[in-house]
Amino acid sequence: MHSAPKDNNQTPPLGRRAFLGAIGGVAAAGAATLMIPPTVSAVARSAGTELPEGMRAPKSAAMVSFSDIDGTPVYYWRSNPGNQDPVTWQCTQEFLDTLVVWIRELRSIAQEAGYGNVQYLVSAGFYVNKEGQHGAGTAMDLDVVQWDSGQVSSPLDGDHTSSDDAVARRYLGVEATLRRQFCYVLDGWYPNHHDHFHADFASMPPLLSTSGESATNFVQATCNRFQGSGLDIDGIWGPNTQREYERMLGTLGVTGDPTADIEVYRDLLHKIAVHGFANTPF
Ligand SMILES: [Zn+2]
Repeated sequence: MHSAPKDNNQTPPLGRRAFLGAIGGVAAAGAATLMIPPTVSAVARSAGTELPEGMRAPKSAAMVSFSDIDGTPVYYWRSNPGNQDPVTWQCTQEFLDTLVVWIRELRSIAQEAGYGNVQYLVSAGFYVNKEGQHGAGTAMDLDVVQWDSGQVSSPLDGDHTSSDDAVARRYLGVEATLRRQFCYVLDGWYPNHHDHFHADFASMPPLLSTSGESATNFVQATCNRFQGSGLDIDGIWGPNTQREYERMLGTLGVTGDPTADIEVYRDLLHKIAVHGFANTPF
């Protein structure tokens, strides 16, 4: 129910007009080497990627429109992978404000590990005309994070299952930054989410929920990737998960209870993210 529409048929042909003027030199220069320009008439008609109709809110809805989060462009690849055309997304002002806090922390934590700025994001949707958090404009589906220093995290490509620890740890690093802001985060181990992160405003504020399937998957995967715990990633918090979780808290020097204290949980997530971006075990 949280997956984004994958129907490509409603999306009109894409042009290349706007990114040259709207996004700036780096993206334009990169895109120019990747793309064969369409005909002149197609360039003149296009105003960027137009989302499928079900991803555009009715005019009466209390949504704000945006093409970037705090200056970082957000692209749409479900209809045309790799394109850097501007997209008009919609969500509530409060949700967008939280995304700004999120991306500033993401930039800051990744920079601690030597990453450059976030060059762009790719999303599969914010507002979507359906029940629940997407329909309320309080959800994000995140496909890709690209840094200008070359690193990329691509849930879209199933990075959570990568045989490369650096890739899988980076994925968990991104997830940790999402969990610092959003309690309800669904990752690649959750049904129908093998190719994107979902984050929304449900069950706020963010605390660790040991009864939550997705949060438990995250802890199990983190223990496995950073300290070789060898747990089944089954979303069930049992004694082995508890033991490895306590070992992780001890190694990382986290004192307090992440299930009860937001700041303690955020401290844990910050440390996971730093290790994730630096590709260092606990
Ligand atoms: Zn979603």
